[in-house]
Amino acid sequence: MVTMDAAGTVIENGAVAISDAAIVAVGTAAGVASKFHAARTIDATGQIILPGLINTHTHAPMVLYRGLADDLALMDWLTKYIFPAEKATVSPDFVRVGTKLAALEMIESGTTTFADMYYFEDDIAQVTKEAGLRAVLGQSVIKFPVADAATPEAALTRADAFLAKWKDDPLVTPAVAPHAPYTLEPATLQAARALANKYQKPLLIHLAETKDEIKIINDGHHTTPARFLDALGVWDGRSLAAHAVWLDDADIEVLAKKQVGLAHNPESNMKLASGVARVPDWIARGVRAGLGTDGAASNNDLDMFEAMRAAALLHKVSSGNPQAMPARQALELATRRGAEALGMGDRIGSLELGKQADVITVDVSGARQTPMFDPMSHLVYVSRGDDVRNTIVAGRVLMSGMAVTSLKKDEVLKDARAMAVRVREAVGLTPAGKGGSRE
Ligand SMILES: [Zn+2]
Repeated sequence: MVTMDAAGTVIENGAVAISDAAIVAVGTAAGVASKFHAARTIDATGQIILPGLINTHTHAPMVLYRGLADDLALMDWLTKYIFPAEKATVSPDFVRVGTKLAALEMIESGTTTFADMYYFEDDIAQVTKEAGLRAVLGQSVIKFPVADAATPEAALTRADAFLAKWKDDPLVTPAVAPHAPYTLEPATLQAARALANKYQKPLLIHLAETKDEIKIINDGHHTTPARFLDALGVWDGRSLAAHAVWLDDADIEVLAKKQVGLAHNPESNMKLASGVARVPDWIARGVRAGLGTDGAASNNDLDMFEAMRAAALLHKVSSGNPQAMPARQALELATRRGAEALGMGDRIGSLELGKQADVITVDVSGARQTPMFDPMSHLVYVSRGDDVRNTIVAGRVLMSGMAVTSLKKDEVLKDARAMAVRVREAVGLTPAGKGGSRE
């Protein structure tokens, strides 16, 4: 059992006892068995028990655009493919079908908490709740007309209602998600902050993702995106910023001081050739760092094991230092550090007494995992999402022995395939779309 507590405790033949939603004991199997009589026992022989993985940045319904447009730079990819596809296809039905597919994939690959930024977030919340996952869900605000809001003002009104509805939910933390500093006016960014603070909930935003964004903000405001938002007061409250690829030293200092959580998305950053985020510097300077997959349109999956491996390898090759991000640190980003980045470090991110029972087990009994000298090394350099055997969130077993119990897998896949036909047709009809000719 890899507890991911602050000391990095690993327990040989470990066990965790769960009562209702919480962890009531962590120790050796013999020790836990001597103190508790369980109504249900899950045998994890040949498996590693660890805290559920935390994906600090994604756009769940975008799994329906998986592989729709690859091998492009962010601005081209967004403006020529993703924004037109979204304009033609996003609806409450679309986000429900997409979120079910995403939830199925996350449960199967050991993610127990995710942070989301998208449209019709109330529908996403309902599906997330049904699926049994924990999430921070951000209702998007963006300056041009989108499927669920004709104006940023309408988006803020929708976000207000969403926050009011979900503010006391034990699994879903509602949030407001202004898209990015370059896709919103300063007044709207400030209104989004005020709205998040009205409910004491997080603000989620994309930040300093590309060099283009740095230029846009510098041309318009003569500063960097991080300091531009700081001057507007956007960091004055619980915040999580995704990407933060292009930060200077002063930016990192501001973000550390304001305790802004940063979501590192190595696969998306590599695939869109956005750049290499200075994650080892973030950590050295006390920034709250987590790990994310980004949406499946730019990844192209939600497997957090891949994200850990990509992070561990990317920072080695980009720095020329094989110690730039050790396995344990990559694992921390996906667990305890990710929880801290989301402001949930007191409740999730490790297997410790009193924390929420978000637990997964990962098979290490096959040829690929044999032999095993160090379980943390295996989890980062060997394991894959499909090695996950059991997924538990708040004490509820969502997957038992690879069988997902909270969703009907066949139905979810059938609905997703049907929706993909609509995506293909819709993109084929847009002027810039190439979807129809990509047979
Ligand atoms: Zn994103």
